[in-house]
Amino acid sequence: MRLLLIEDEPKIARFIKRGLEEEHHAVDVADNGEDGIALAGVTPYDLVILDLMLPDTDGVDVCRRLRQGGELVPVLMLTARGTLEDKVTGLDAGADDYLTKPFAFAELLARVRALLRRHEGAKTAQLHVADLTLDTATHDVRRADRRVELSNKEYAVLEYLMRHAGQVVTRTMLLEAVWDYDFHPGSNVVDVYIRYLRRKIDDPFPVKILATLRGSGYRLRAPDDP
Ligand code: CA
Repeated sequence: MRLLLIEDEPKIARFIKRGLEEEHHAVDVADNGEDGIALAGVTPYDLVILDLMLPDTDGVDVCRRLRQGGELVPVLMLTARGTLEDKVTGLDAGADDYLTKPFAFAELLARVRALLRRHEGAKTAQLHVADLTLDTATHDVRRADRRVELSNKEYAVLEYLMRHAGQVVTRTMLLEAVWDYDFHPGSNVVDVYIRYLRRKIDDPFPVKILATLRGSGYRLRAPDDP
């Protein structure tokens, strides 16, 4: 998943970014509201984590402007204050949830997972394609009941492919969904990761489910495909 973090305190931003990357997400950071709104306008984020107190404006204003622009992305508001009034104002501005600083990182992760799940409309945390399963809560990946060990990026690529099972997924879609702006494309990184992934989820098994479509991208077989 690709996340946007709007947070002006460098230490907190680094801490959150690193923790979310360990959870296989790609994270872009904006240290002010205007940059955050601009980024959200050009990148299809899966979630925005938004600090309430920003140098140029505040999180309530940013949230309101995102919603006015028709942005439906889930927003998790971070607030140093914990008063009822702030929470109500944030939620009224269109935030989906809020978390009061200081918070335990485990709680941030749990809320991020819940918001992403709700947004995907998924009832369970499990994705299935053929005999391949991926659990977005535990990060457990299995094929034919055998556990598959994946790196962070391999996992992120696979999750995206599973969420788009049966569809053609282009390199650009994968780059946008799995890599952040600190990564400079132009290399064959997507092909490299597809190769790693195929070695783990396809090569050991008789039935192949990850196809390369020459010139267009990749497709993970839909469950009802023959
Ligand atoms: Ca702040």
